[in-house]
Amino acid sequence: MINAKGRNMTEKILIAEDEKEIADLVALYLENDGFEVLKYYDGTEAMGAALSNQPELAILDIMLPGVNGLEICRRIREKHNYPIIMLTAKGEETDKITGLALGADDYMTKPFLPLELVARVKAQLRRYKRYNTGGEQGDVLEVSGLVLNSKTHECLLNEKPLSLTPTEFAILRILCQRKGEVVSAEELFHLIWEEEYYTKNNNTITVHVRHLREKMGDSFEHPKYIKTVWGCGYKIEG
Ligand code: CA
Repeated sequence: MINAKGRNMTEKILIAEDEKEIADLVALYLENDGFEVLKYYDGTEAMGAALSNQPELAILDIMLPGVNGLEICRRIREKHNYPIIMLTAKGEETDKITGLALGADDYMTKPFLPLELVARVKAQLRRYKRYNTGGEQGDVLEVSGLVLNSKTHECLLNEKPLSLTPTEFAILRILCQRKGEVVSAEELFHLIWEEEYYTKNNNTITVHVRHLREKMGDSFEHPKYIKTVWGCGYKIEG
């Protein structure tokens, strides 16, 4: 059954949160967006549902009566690989790290905007589906916050879409495929245009890399994503 938002009604989101106001508000936003919500104020009940009811995604607060969110996360990961978003309070830095180590996919620190949580839920579901619908798997590359889908020509950086030209996309794809390796401008040029003609004065690749960095919000002096290895070429760390 497809609802008004065009989403399959069976997409269930489980939320475990004992602060009722937060749980109710998040549930409201998710329901408005066409999700079915399984809402629990208690950790023990939430864990039972998370393990047997198989939601498409779980949102887990850490401090809960009964079983805490980290334990629920750990138990889910023994059996299931659906996305998990943890809710943490300010100052629970270690819990965040523990959550991610236990297999959570993302976390949000309270207080947060419900709309932002909904956006993260959708981002996680998109990514999860992309990896679990077979066929497309070989076409998706993921390297340090970058997700490249060669089939759909989609590029996400930290869940945000980047609008890339085919050449920029091609450069990024090659660097991601060979992450950790330095690829020279000359080689990039040959791989992309399959042309023999290239001189050291040819700055085509340099210009494209500059545009890529701009689009990625990366700095030229201290690039985080595409590193320049002077005199050798470019690389993306794995
Ligand atoms: Ca709590």
